[in-house]
Amino acid sequence: MSKVHYNRAVRLPPNLLGLVRGLRFRLTLSYFAIFAILLAAIGLYFRASLRETLDDRMREIVEQEWAAVRGYLRIENEVPVWYFDAKDPEESSFVERLQRIILIADNKGKVLEASNGYRALGVESTQVLQGRFILGMSGNKDFITRSDSKGDRVLIRTGAVRQGNIQYYLAVGRRLADNAIIPERFTRDYFTALPILLLFTGIAGWFIAARALTPVTDVAKAAQRISGSNLDVRIPSRRSGDELDNLIETFNKMMDRLKTNFEQMRQFSTDASHELRTPLTAIRGQLEVALFTAKTTDQYKEAIFNSLQDVEQLSNIVRALLMLSHAETGQIVLQRQPVDMTLLLNDIADQFQIPAEEAQVTLTLEAEKDLVIPADRVQIGRLFSNLLSNAVKYTPAGGSINVFLKRTPDNTQANIIVTDTGEGIGEVHLPHIFERFYKVPNANPEKGLGLGLSFVAWIVKAHGGTIQVTSKLGEGTTFEVALPTNGLDRSLKDAGSKRKRFKKA
Ligand code: ADP
Repeated sequence: MSKVHYNRAVRLPPNLLGLVRGLRFRLTLSYFAIFAILLAAIGLYFRASLRETLDDRMREIVEQEWAAVRGYLRIENEVPVWYFDAKDPEESSFVERLQRIILIADNKGKVLEASNGYRALGVESTQVLQGRFILGMSGNKDFITRSDSKGDRVLIRTGAVRQGNIQYYLAVGRRLADNAIIPERFTRDYFTALPILLLFTGIAGWFIAARALTPVTDVAKAAQRISGSNLDVRIPSRRSGDELDNLIETFNKMMDRLKTNFEQMRQFSTDASHELRTPLTAIRGQLEVALFTAKTTDQYKEAIFNSLQDVEQLSNIVRALLMLSHAETGQIVLQRQPVDMTLLLNDIADQFQIPAEEAQVTLTLEAEKDLVIPADRVQIGRLFSNLLSNAVKYTPAGGSINVFLKRTPDNTQANIIVTDTGEGIGEVHLPHIFERFYKVPNANPEKGLGLGLSFVAWIVKAHGGTIQVTSKLGEGTTFEVALPTNGLDRSLKDAGSKRKRFKKA
């Protein structure tokens, strides 16, 4: 005889732990547990209700039998005598059934007759029986449950019976064992079928959970496909308007934002390297020329001087980039304090007086008095220095620059207008001038890095304000900045107008 060995290795999925922790498994488990508890509770409830119904039914039967006994029984000289047609098999078997568990006692509690079935339960004392007789006299139906030596329960109807002028005590009982069989069988069958039912529920739950989680899995798979070079992944909406569609929509919107940010960053690093390369190439060129062709000290000095200028430009770019990155990553914390805008703009206008005179441009400031806003003095100073420096840079000789400071009638905002009669900005470029490194093409490349207005925009935003620009080529440009006063500026009453004029040299 040969033995066949089945050497089948139990192969567990490698990510069994992940599966157990997974949402699908947990959903199925909860589903399974809820069903198990629910079905068990239903089973127990029905068993109890079945028992109760059967007990009620049994009470009715015992009650009927108790009443029937009176039709067949006579007490004659303290002896119970049964009257029935012994030839009628139906009647005799009925009477025989009545006689199985029966006790008859007189009105003093003395036992007149007790069947063997009753004796097995134990006959009560005279006092007890008399007590029950008296209770029965008042018309009370009394049911008692007793157990025999084997533990079988018997339901007994007790009461008083009147026969002419004789009164006696009658107790008729029935075994409850037959009654218990039905709920027991129900319990056995139901709780045997329950695990099979639960198994099917579990399997169904497993598949239902999978179906419900498909969009979540799709989101996870889509997220896995995302990389820096693949930000176009989008999950198609199921158009059911449920929570999962909401999740998909949120995910897709997040991808849109990520893509925009990523594009900006990519653009930024391209622009930054481009900006850094220009002065580096210049330095390299100058040094190479000096190395191979310079002979005199003056020629070397000139090369070093030119290189130093480019190094200076490099440092400016690096400094500006660092500041911008600090600003955008929230590392620059605004030091807000009450800033008197009238004084601040006066100071800045004073500083730009000399460059304006050198460029042969008129610079005027018209400011309402005592206009105070909560702001970071350094940043606000930087904001207007940038705007004025641009105005001076891009306004040809003979032009003018005017700065206005006004509060709004409801006193909630300070409006600052910087307007010039310079070269203006073309319509196509206007929407981009606040972008990093954006320089209007053909503008003199020496004039700037294209970062100034990015700063301006950040500072305004950080102060909760707004900035607008209007411009016409060849006519000039106007920047309008609105900064909130946050209720600081209450000095409307004293507000007067102060005009300061800087004359051209
Ligand atoms: P830059 O430091 O190069 O001036 P900005 O970010 O400050 O960079 O400005 C971006 C572009 O906007 C500039 O290249 C310039 O062409 C244009 N610009 C800014 N201000 C003015 C102005 N007042 N008049 C004309 N053009 C301006």
